[in-house]
Formats: sequence, C-alpha cells, structure tokens
Amino acid sequence: MNRKSFIKLAGIAGAGIVSNSISLLGENKKKTSKSNHSVPIVISTWNMGLGANEGAWKVLSSGGDALTAVEQGVWIPEADPKEMTVGLGGFPDREGRVTLDACVMRGDGACGAVLALENIVHPVSVARAVMEKTPHVILTGEGALQFALQQGFKKENLLTPESEKAWKDWLKKSEYKPIINIENHDTIGMLAIDQAGKLAGACTTSGMAFKMRGRIGDSPIIGAGLFVDEEVGGATATGHGEEVIRIAGSHLVVELMRHGKSPEAACKEAVDRVYKRQKHRIKDIQVGFIAVSKEGEYGAYCVHKGFSYAVKTAQKTELIPGKYLID
Ligand code: ASP
Repeated sequence: MNRKSFIKLAGIAGAGIVSNSISLLGENKKKTSKSNHSVPIVISTWNMGLGANEGAWKVLSSGGDALTAVEQGVWIPEADPKEMTVGLGGFPDREGRVTLDACVMRGDGACGAVLALENIVHPVSVARAVMEKTPHVILTGEGALQFALQQGFKKENLLTPESEKAWKDWLKKSEYKPIINIENHDTIGMLAIDQAGKLAGACTTSGMAFKMRGRIGDSPIIGAGLFVDEEVGGATATGHGEEVIRIAGSHLVVELMRHGKSPEAACKEAVDRVYKRQKHRIKDIQVGFIAVSKEGEYGAYCVHKGFSYAVKTAQKTELIPGKYLID
C-alpha cells in the first residue's frame, strides 16, 4: 500500500484495523502519557516508516546501537524503487537527475550529512561515513560522490523507468507547484533509542520532486530536518523543507522539550510557528514533525491532515495519524 492509497483508505475507514498486526489509532484521540513511553523504541515518518521500523527493530531487539538501527531502518525505503521520494527511484530534479540528501545524528552531538549526492543508493550510510571518517559534518555534490566512491560505495543509476516517466510527464507543463501529502513531498525521518538508552536519528530524501537543480531542503540540515540531544530527545521533520529551515524546526522542537514541553506539544508549537509565518499561503504548505523524549515518550504534529507516522516498541507496531492544525 503506498501513501496515496493509505491516505485514501484512512479517509474511508477513519479509525480502524488496517491489518492484523497494525492498529491505526483514531485521529486526534487523546492518549495517556503512560501508553506512549517505551524504550527501546523507533519512530519514523509516513507509512513507509512501518517497513523501515522493522529494519531498525532487528537491530534494536538484538541489542544493537541506535545509530545502526536508524541507518539500517532507512535502508529499506532508500533501496525500494517504489518509494519515489527517497533513494533509488526517487523523483529527479527538473533536469532529470536524482540528487539525494541525508543526515545522521547521535545523542552526543556527532553528526554527518551529504547534500545533492548522485548515483549512490544509500546516502544515509555516506552521511554516517562523513561523521565517522572525516573531520567534517557536510559533504556536497561532486565531493560527496568522490568520498563515497573512495569509501567503496558503488555507483548506480537511480533513475528508474517510472521516475523518468513521471519527470517527462512533468516536463510537458513544467509547472513547479509542490503538492501536499503525496509522493512528491515525503521524506523518511527516523528516531531511535536503543536498549542502552542511547539516541540517534536519520533523515533521507530525494527532496522535492522536479526541484531546481542545486536546491536543498531541510532534510540533510542538522537542526532543521533532524536534531538529537541525549539530554533531551530527538526530532525530525518532513514536508516543505524551506519552511522547516526558516524556523530551524527540529532544533526548535528539541529545545522546547528541554524547557518542559511534551514531544507532541513541542511539535505543535513548531507547527504553530510555521503557521504564523505563512498564514497567507498555509493551504499550500504541509510540514510534519515527530519527536521522542529520552525517556521514550513520543508525539507528532503537522499542518494539514494526512500525515502519519510509524511507531515500533516491544509492545506495539502502529501507524498513527498525526494530529493537525488544519483539516
Ligand atoms: N522535506 C523534504 C524537502 O524539503 C521533502 C519532504 O519531506 O517531503 O526536501
């Protein structure tokens, strides 16, 4: 089931059981704080997060560390050609080139990112290598590719026949109008706490479909698309990256948690801030945040109805519709 069909299904079914193993909680249903505390835990954006969380859970449940869990979790959508907003098969830019953005961050402040990386299926692992094997935080474009090849990553064509066709169809009108809640606007952001209580996060995307060549969104920007601090918790974002960058979104969410807000309340305040700045054009903007505290409490908030996030703990596997500001 892709996100589009999920959103339709969610619309028809409201709150209900999607499959035997996945429960879909009612929208805007109040949860007790106790029911959403658990460690180890992994949470991630959109319904593609369900599969990705399974990959992360293999690592977490066998005692692996949070960074490896988020890396291996997001490998799943990165390698899936049917996920047209991440990794292999991602929508290209307006010149037909698939350029990927990704970052990772650990709770102790270690982080790494790649921007506009081409021809590598797993940009998240290159971001991890930037963190672990260079004195830098960010590598971009040609330099990032050169580094990846030196590290033994293989060059591959990421433009699938499907993403090429979508691009050629787009070229007919060349109308650049990002649309909310569909496949031209999704990123996988993932946060995990391992058995030892350590936190890490990853964020990976092909960015906005048919973006201008060279455009970078929030996803690989530490503090915008992702921020993790072991004293507090972590947050990650999806949606219109420009709006997330303008408010340093994920950092803002973590700082609000530091000052006492719950993950959900912190995400809501960040969404409120996007709203305040972009009220006049809010109908065209979708932004969603997810967050987890270091104790394993989680929450999310988004501008418009339609965003969902996936949670996996020892007790549950859930896809939860994000609470929202505007119907
Ligand atoms: N945040 C991503 C970007 O702006 C896209 C998305 O999450 O939909 O590139």
